[in-house]
Amino acid sequence: MQPAPIRKLEETVINRIAAGEIINRPSNALKELIENSLDAGSTSISIAVKDGGLKVLQIQDNGHGIRTEDMPIVCERFTTSKLKVYEDLSHIQTYGFRGEALASISHVSHLSITTKQADSECAFKAHYADGKLVPAKPGGSSDPVPCAGNNGTVITAEDLFYNIPSRKAALKNIREEYNRIFEVASRYAIHNSGIAFSCRKYGAPKVDLSTVAGASTITNIRQIFGSKIANSLVEIKDSNADFDVEFSGHVSSAAHEMHKTVFLLFINHRLVEHTPIRRAIESLYSSVLPKASRPFVYLDLRIKPENVDVNVHPTKREVRFLNEDGIVGCIVDCIHNKLLSSNGSREFVVQERLQKQLNVSTDGDTPSLTSIAPSNTISDAESNLTIPTPTLTPTQPVGSTSSSNLPTAAPRKTPVNRAVRTNYKTLSLESFSFGS
Ligand code: ADP
Ligand code: MG
Repeated sequence: MQPAPIRKLEETVINRIAAGEIINRPSNALKELIENSLDAGSTSISIAVKDGGLKVLQIQDNGHGIRTEDMPIVCERFTTSKLKVYEDLSHIQTYGFRGEALASISHVSHLSITTKQADSECAFKAHYADGKLVPAKPGGSSDPVPCAGNNGTVITAEDLFYNIPSRKAALKNIREEYNRIFEVASRYAIHNSGIAFSCRKYGAPKVDLSTVAGASTITNIRQIFGSKIANSLVEIKDSNADFDVEFSGHVSSAAHEMHKTVFLLFINHRLVEHTPIRRAIESLYSSVLPKASRPFVYLDLRIKPENVDVNVHPTKREVRFLNEDGIVGCIVDCIHNKLLSSNGSREFVVQERLQKQLNVSTDGDTPSLTSIAPSNTISDAESNLTIPTPTLTPTQPVGSTSSSNLPTAAPRKTPVNRAVRTNYKTLSLESFSFGS
């Protein structure tokens, strides 16, 4: 068999292959776009989505915008305003540095950018395909056109993966894609509580996510995950000079029970996954939580930038850092101590054996109040037992269900010994006969 000749791939093929690696699904694209908006110093970020981001994914920010003269190259691969020499990577402060996100999105969607700098008289709008400027309509000019617009940038990606049918076919579940988008947006909203975030579906009457600038982290957690989780959280905060690390966050107390782990990890403000940290925290919780119960963890970990390698994954989903074992140990110790010191009340739901109690109580005429109490919550705080009992209005007949949440008493059966007249003094049937 003869070897096939080796030839260089065409630029567009190379770029499309690379794009498929960076932009796996709409939520990856959104993560890149949010990070660009944050790098641009935005204080307000609005996201609008149609068909799970596959039809339209749009993000609007009020950041510093893009210089008009940079618009022709902004979507080319490896064009960035954030990195000049390789050494800059060791102390990079921005999310972006690879100059690949916009290029990748332009290779797998119809991309348009409208941007206005604060000192510019108007905004400019341009359309892109395969990294290059293209006309809005066939035959027209591809130059950016002046238009009205607010300070900042609006980026719209339409028909994501229109040219990768296999990828598009694999992303059929629009609801799941939207959930992933919501998850990315809400996690960034929690971590960036100084910035207003919103996320909505096109045409929907209300936004699904709306945080205000300057809200506290816990307020944002409450808005996104609900009061039950927010109220169960304890704050953690610690640092270690030996490992050049400091961290803070909110974690659920040992009393809180959830069915699914919620794990928000930011390392140097990047939303990342880190299996050793996650495993260590999960195993700590598994020793204090009832079986099948899971924790909520929001952790903001800040490590000296020189000790972190951010360039280990094309989507920047992972980072590596020095002193991993020591840092994981510090985090686990801190959470452990906090859980011990905040060992608050744990709630047990006591299931009443209601029906049985009602049947037993039929010997008397009415069931007693405590025996028909609905399932009680016994709070065991430092062995203080409190059993709330329901209150009944005096006029209300016991056992009536009209306005109370009490269950109806079971129909009473006459005991066999009462069905037969056993005492001659008790009234007999004859005494009721009509003739007498
Ligand atoms: P990177 O973020 O790695 O530099 P991107 O492809 O994501 O690469 O973006 C390319 C460049 O486009 C950025 O370096 C930045 O200068 C500019 N840019 C992208 N999005 C925005 C935005 N929302 N606001 C201002 N500038 C932006
Ligand atoms: Mg970027």
